Amino acid sequence: MTKITLHNTMSRTKEVFEPHYDKNVQMYVCGPTVYDRAHLGNARPVIVFDVLFRLLRHVYGPDHVTYVRNITDVEDKINARAAETGRTISDITTQTTQWFFDDMAALGALEPNEVPRATQYIPQMITMIERLIANGHAYERDGHVLFRVRSYAEYGRLSGRSVDDMIAGARVEVAPYKEDPMDFVLWKPSSDDQPGWPSPWGVGRPGWHIECSVMSYELLGESFDIHGGGYDLTFPHHENEIAQSCCANPSGGFAKYWMHNEMLQVEGKKMSKSLGNFFTVRDLLDQGVPGEVIRFVFLSTHYRKPMDWTEKKALEALDTLTKWSRDAEPPKGGQVDPEIIDALSDDLNTKGALDVLGRLHKQGRDADLIASARFLGFELVNPKFVQDRRARDASLLAQNEELLSANTALFNQLRATAMASKDFSEVDRLKAALIDAGIEVRISKDGVELVPGSDFDRAKLEALQ
Ligand code: AMP
Ligand code: ZN
Repeated sequence: MTKITLHNTMSRTKEVFEPHYDKNVQMYVCGPTVYDRAHLGNARPVIVFDVLFRLLRHVYGPDHVTYVRNITDVEDKINARAAETGRTISDITTQTTQWFFDDMAALGALEPNEVPRATQYIPQMITMIERLIANGHAYERDGHVLFRVRSYAEYGRLSGRSVDDMIAGARVEVAPYKEDPMDFVLWKPSSDDQPGWPSPWGVGRPGWHIECSVMSYELLGESFDIHGGGYDLTFPHHENEIAQSCCANPSGGFAKYWMHNEMLQVEGKKMSKSLGNFFTVRDLLDQGVPGEVIRFVFLSTHYRKPMDWTEKKALEALDTLTKWSRDAEPPKGGQVDPEIIDALSDDLNTKGALDVLGRLHKQGRDADLIASARFLGFELVNPKFVQDRRARDASLLAQNEELLSANTALFNQLRATAMASKDFSEVDRLKAALIDAGIEVRISKDGVELVPGSDFDRAKLEALQ
């Protein structure tokens, strides 16, 4: 069996991956809150854990891996969006969930085995909360149920902080219904205009963290292998998930390996609406950036390093993928190169795996290149991005010819007029402008010929019109 090593946030070291049960390797990844299009940063965990999913399927067999990624469809940001737009909550969550599926599919991500929605697990959440109250880890106050953080001695282990440091550092809300500022909400009351479900504590809705404890328990059990998400979720979300799960199911170990991807930046800066560099995956796709290019750029940086999205990287990725593509299926028998598996088995060295594709291309091993790229989520046989690029090049060529022929006609006309008037100033002006646009102007007794050179600048020619 291939040895896989993964960096575990819990131990802060790379560990050899040993699943509880190798006939069913289990992974849970925190999914999106569905109130808007996924931004480019949201795509990072999707692509990172998709590669891990592919590796696990390769090593343990596709029928021996269960990957769960949830959809958070009850959350106050969704309520706010509904209030702002006058749309219903279910209208917003249904549409946004479908957008998420479509956009992630465009990035070559496989569908997880299970995509549970939080709203489908409300009774199970109530059951877990009741259990936490019964064993002293939670309490009810004014229709709220809170987790008693001081009752769980291990709290803070994942993020490596003590509860006292957290209180000093964080802006924790000191609500009147809390015994301790660190206590967090498991259940809260809903007013008539908020989504609510009947519960032993009145009509209300869950806090954010309980859903992942419940859905991972229902679908994977009290002990499972890998839990993933972006690094920003380490505290408080994952810390709270651990507290809830380990206190509700003391005999289980919850997740054994905690994996977190670093954040995405844009041109060296944090992506944010106020900096004007915020964009969604759909924005990029609509601008003509192929999903394969986004995937390639993401995989060229290790998941535990901050990753910088730049236009330059996207252009380079498109060139590389175009160079590797081919028009027809290669001869049969292509294999995923073992060095790709070796690279990914070393804590997901995706850059190393892309380098192997480059080597296969150099060696002319087309069948292996196509099979290996397909394994990594890239379709290189007659891909749409190459067809699109060719169509774009052909249309540019046609437009260039049109521009050149219009200027040839104009030049000949000005020249004929100048011959009669002996005033060549207009002809000279046009000639200088054409030369400035990188065009060689060849004049003979039959007329003019315009030949674009290597420094041909189409925009300058267009500006002449
Ligand atoms: P959210 O919908 O905000 O809960 O985020 C969904 C997923 O995207 C979580 O795993 C986050 O950690 C991850 N995420 C959010 N922003 C970024 C970012 N800038 N870079 C990488 N991952 C991110
Ligand atoms: Zn979660």
